[in-house]
Amino acid sequence: MKDLQQQRLERFREILAKEGLEAFLVSKPENRRYLSGFTGSSGFLLITPQEAVLLTDGRYEQQACQEAPDCRILIYKGEFLEAFRETCSDLQIRELGFEKDHLTYYMFEQFEKNLAKVKLRPLSGLVEGLRMVKDQEEIRLIQEAAVITCAAFWYLLGVLEEGQSEQEVAAILEFFMRKNRGGPPAFETIVAAGERGALPHGVATDQKLRRGQMVVLDLGARYQGYAADFTRTVCLRRVDRRQREIYELVREAQGRALEVIRPGVTASEVDGAARSFLQEAGYGEFFTHALGHGVGLSVHEEPRLAPGQEVVLEPGMVVTVEPGLYLPGWGGVRIEDTVVVTETGCEVLTPVTKDLLIV
Ligand code: ZN
Ligand code: ZN
Repeated sequence: MKDLQQQRLERFREILAKEGLEAFLVSKPENRRYLSGFTGSSGFLLITPQEAVLLTDGRYEQQACQEAPDCRILIYKGEFLEAFRETCSDLQIRELGFEKDHLTYYMFEQFEKNLAKVKLRPLSGLVEGLRMVKDQEEIRLIQEAAVITCAAFWYLLGVLEEGQSEQEVAAILEFFMRKNRGGPPAFETIVAAGERGALPHGVATDQKLRRGQMVVLDLGARYQGYAADFTRTVCLRRVDRRQREIYELVREAQGRALEVIRPGVTASEVDGAARSFLQEAGYGEFFTHALGHGVGLSVHEEPRLAPGQEVVLEPGMVVTVEPGLYLPGWGGVRIEDTVVVTETGCEVLTPVTKDLLIV
């Protein structure tokens, strides 16, 4: 069996052939990693029908050889542009595609100046399109990240107390994840208590938790490059009727979306299942973001589950389902799972209870 990187490269070359393109330069780190295996923070991957050349500098020589055995490794000593110009001329490249949503304008100018004979073609989403559907190995890594994430949440519930600051809570979660084989968190942990819960991306502050507050906890471990993304909203010591009411609306909205997910439905249909329920309940205006997003090497990637998104779901896609209600001056509730689309529906990779937990 050919190894994963080779299969990915082959599929990408098919895309290049369809685009009528003879060479493509990958600069986005996640895309470079996906197609080469190289995890270093600096380098370019040049792909042609016959070659995959990984250009990086001396710091990464050993790592590149180990991680990217299917690539020709080119360690440049001086300027990257000089090495790249030589490579382009060796390979007789006349037209070069590049990632227009990543390459800087400065770099583009340099290319124009230094690669006079090469026609530059801006493109976007080519590798991202491939990355939407995960292979078995990728799903395994995301699942592992999800297991670590859920374990951190359960651990926190045992030690969460009034008087702890949001920062402290975030630190407990992140420490647990790293201690348990997670890499650096996939994103900055969100801990938003009380009124701050109305901020969908309320990163932790030094505000202290108080009895009776709802706390939105949004966390994700990273495992061998792959992210998980998970949110639960819990109550501290006690709960009032309003809190329960809003919570149950979000929970129902999430359940409706999960029920709709299967191959063949569009991203906007899944979003609509949750959104229309909240609208009918009179809360549509307080659900202020998309229902979900793809998860993989990036914590936010394609496909987006949002109105107007006509991507058709396929087995192997991994997405979040995260409706939320954000009431200014009151607070917020979000419930989020990472799920993988299966042949018949979806499997939740973060199977933590959605009963309202009073901690
Ligand atoms: Zn999240
Ligand atoms: Zn998310």
